[in-house]
Amino acid sequence: MNNERQQRHKRAMQKLKRHVDERIEKANEERGLLLVFTGNGKGKTTAAWGTVTRALGYGYRVGVVQFIKGVWECGERERLADDAHLQVHTMATGFTWETQNRETDKAACEKVWVEAEKLLVDPDIYLVVLDELTYMLKFGYLDIGTVKRALAHRPAEQTVIITGRNAHRELLDMADTITEMQETRHAFNLGLKARRGIDY
Ligand code: ATP
Ligand code: MG
Repeated sequence: MNNERQQRHKRAMQKLKRHVDERIEKANEERGLLLVFTGNGKGKTTAAWGTVTRALGYGYRVGVVQFIKGVWECGERERLADDAHLQVHTMATGFTWETQNRETDKAACEKVWVEAEKLLVDPDIYLVVLDELTYMLKFGYLDIGTVKRALAHRPAEQTVIITGRNAHRELLDMADTITEMQETRHAFNLGLKARRGIDY
């Protein structure tokens, strides 16, 4: 009985291996990717920083542009700040939901976008993260055409991660990988406060 189960498992694993091997064989194009982490669930920015850490681990150069949480605390930024291969640019005014001033926010966004554009033409930068960029498009602070052009003309080996809810349709059309974080439950909606070192 036990032996039969083992045999069945072995056959299933062999079949799976053949399937995976075939797919690995087909995946032979190598270039930088465009990834979009979107959806309402928690984990978009965390996943982006996870990838930053991964790239830094191999000694690659990484640029992070934070489009919203400039003045907020950010544990990942603290931890990785002294890695010479990492540069972080944050929106100067530190956009907040409470003090929305269209003109100053738009100006701050345009200013940090200049830094993003510099990263997006630099072949030495292996990974660029545009954290919460989706909102800049949604609010009309940045133009989709401008963003698409910069992404399309970036160095071939460069990977870009864009995070944020409500990603623009045209961004999704360009993306190689799209992950939609689905909110099944969030502690915040149960009245639990955002937690240091866990949520930021
Ligand atoms: P994280 O930074 O934790 O990976 P995120 O990038 O997916 O989250 P954002 O929409 O950028 O999510 O939210 C920023 C802050 O709001 C974070 O502190 C995050 O933990 C929290 N948050 C994320 N998802 C939700 C949610 N569905 N409801 C309430 N708060 C959320
Ligand atoms: Mg986020």
